[in-house]
Amino acid sequence: MSRKYNFCAGPAALPEAVLNRAQQEMADWQGKGLSIMEMSHRSPEFVGVAQQAEADLRELLSISDDFAVLFLQGGASTQFAAIPLNLLGDKGTADYVNTGQWSKKAIKEAGRYCDVNVVASSEGTNFSTIPPLADWQLNPNAAYLHYTPNETIGGVEFFEEPQVDVPLVADMSSTILSRKIDVNKYDMIYAGAQKNIGPAGLTLVIIRKTLLDRALPICPAMLNYKVADDNDSMYNTPPTYAWYLSGLVFQWLKEQGGIEAMEVINRRKAAKLYDYIDGSGFYANPVEKQSRSLMNIPFTLANSDLDKAFLAEAEELGLLNLKGHRSVGGMRASIYNAVPEAAVDALIAFMSDFAARHS
Ligand code: PMP
Repeated sequence: MSRKYNFCAGPAALPEAVLNRAQQEMADWQGKGLSIMEMSHRSPEFVGVAQQAEADLRELLSISDDFAVLFLQGGASTQFAAIPLNLLGDKGTADYVNTGQWSKKAIKEAGRYCDVNVVASSEGTNFSTIPPLADWQLNPNAAYLHYTPNETIGGVEFFEEPQVDVPLVADMSSTILSRKIDVNKYDMIYAGAQKNIGPAGLTLVIIRKTLLDRALPICPAMLNYKVADDNDSMYNTPPTYAWYLSGLVFQWLKEQGGIEAMEVINRRKAAKLYDYIDGSGFYANPVEKQSRSLMNIPFTLANSDLDKAFLAEAEELGLLNLKGHRSVGGMRASIYNAVPEAAVDALIAFMSDFAARHS
């Protein structure tokens, strides 16, 4: 088997060691004579797997007992509705920051349930900046403030947490586990799994326990964080295989030296690629320097007529999924934890060769 380099924004690359372990355990999990997928989620075996995954995640992110960790379904997009349904309480309004396509989707969905106050937007710069925090029009009566620390499509990342007086909610789908964060600075963090956590199908919610009591009466039981917490994320049948595989990813992360070690590698990978792009005179990244994502690096070629040839040649060399999001075009290299530094080196070598032939 020869694995290629996968720059997909999600479902993203998984660590090869994790895939190999899952393969070994696939048909007969730890001598039990059946796979983990075929076991009851209430069996002691699966409950053990689930609890270990939570313990490892808590260790990796230093999550205190003030927070519940929920393993849910429906993707981050379901949280766009679950957040207002759970957190509005007796308030009819919530603050949102608009920094890109994912913020916009969250805003649109929240608008079904409350008045959305867009405190700041970078749409005017085509989402290539982060609006200065000092200029945000915060509402002190907002139920919460929602923002997207890493916009996967635009490749924009916040490196500072907003300081606000209302509960802070962050869509960390594309940034979780990529670098150190202080969970205590947030009130709720959520993420679709299919980037740095595991396979699609699982959605992670980390929420301050004091926020678990304010769901609206119309909040469906399946979206209610308190119901999930009271039932150890097993109100119904959870996505057991995705949960198990995410647990293997957490173990792998611990073996790599945890988040601190990943951050060093991730910063080096991103710096290499941005430096190359900036110095190339052929490729360009539109994002302001201090807000460039460590995980998702969009770039354009000097001449978009060459896009097709670029992608075809890249694929030929085993560099997969470099096409930019359909809404913005160009290219995008997503370099999550499981994308090795050698993949970035191979990409830069190809880009440089391609530019030399087409300049
Ligand atoms: N938020 C962000 C930042 C994302 O990148 C994505 C998916 N790419 C989503 C939300 C939506 O996630 P899901 O597909 O899990 O609903």
